[in-house]
Amino acid sequence: MAAFWTEADWDEHEQVELVHDRESGLTAIIALHSTHLGPAAGGTRFWHYADPSAAMRDALRLSRGMSYKNAMAGLPMGGGKAVVLLDENRTKTPEMLAAFGKAVNDLCGRYVTAEDVGASERDMVEISRQTIHVCGLPVEEGAVGGDPGPFTAMGIFLGIKAAVAHRLGRADLDGVRIALQGCGSVGGGVARLAASEGAVLKVSDIDSVRAQDLAAQIGGEAISPDAIMSTECDVFSPNALGAILDERTIPTLNCAIVAGGANNQLFRAEHGKLLAERGILYAPDYVINAGGIIDVGLEYLGRRDGKPYSMDDLRERIGQIPDRLTAIWRESEETGISADAVADRMAQRLIGRG
Ligand code: NAD
Repeated sequence: MAAFWTEADWDEHEQVELVHDRESGLTAIIALHSTHLGPAAGGTRFWHYADPSAAMRDALRLSRGMSYKNAMAGLPMGGGKAVVLLDENRTKTPEMLAAFGKAVNDLCGRYVTAEDVGASERDMVEISRQTIHVCGLPVEEGAVGGDPGPFTAMGIFLGIKAAVAHRLGRADLDGVRIALQGCGSVGGGVARLAASEGAVLKVSDIDSVRAQDLAAQIGGEAISPDAIMSTECDVFSPNALGAILDERTIPTLNCAIVAGGANNQLFRAEHGKLLAERGILYAPDYVINAGGIIDVGLEYLGRRDGKPYSMDDLRERIGQIPDRLTAIWRESEETGISADAVADRMAQRLIGRG
């Protein structure tokens, strides 16, 4: 087997921990890409991998992504990620969670964990019995932290407004046509905020009842998931799955702007260039969807430092997302480099690797 530090995804990780706890059966990888800006923060994925190298690749790729995301969110946090390798039945026991919590604690705050695929808020509470270095714990109503979905949606709404101002020269969303994919926690929030400003929405979800309910709430139209990407609109807002923008779908887009919260929207990096060649303004996903990480990041930093952040602090930081996006689009126009690549370059500069 080739050494993993020669793999493309290695990208100069600062530290990678292989954790094995014989008694509980825990096997995990904790990857710290960068602590240049602060503790490496990123969720823990509980997954059954076909082989250990697939788990390592996932940890390295996701951890670098968190470095970029946290840097562009303006948080004093670096990027990391953990994966817990589960068996085929995805067995996850309290003993494994405790052993994982101890492994996180042994890193003395260099790594801060959070929920990711396969984890629940309850699991995070279990882990927090062993370590304080956990984001996304339950909080009292009105406090910073808790469900990140509404704050992710708020950032996306502001990002869509910035894109509409930048590309269409419009100060608000009155009459702007938005095609929205995914009517869950994030998509539903974006749709409600946009509709309250007069946007005209078409929404879709593979759960048709969910789409119809949302359409009824906002006075929009529910359309089929197959039609949403090619429907004529000003803004296509993807808020469901990732990897949806590729050489097959990009030519069918019928919009001026792509701006939504789904993670990893570009199937491959070159698809950002394809969007730019079609003259479509793209809001890099990890920049526009940062509201949630800002929420849970501030929750952790406030708890760690004994100085809780206020809702005003949170709103102010989410309010900086439009300026960051506009800076990306300007640099993209000046350099001819696609917006996603400009965002990566900005993030690399922020983590001292420019
Ligand atoms: P969710 O599970 O609440 O909602 C997702 C919705 O998408 C569901 O209603 C699902 O039925 C629908 N869906 C799935 N496949 C679809 C398809 N092919 N076409 C149309 N609809 C489809 O999830 P969420 O929390 O709203 O997250 C949505 C996206 O945003 C995900 O990619 C997530 O990774 C990303 N994201 C979420 C947050 C957050 O704070 N929740 C933060 C950053 C990024």
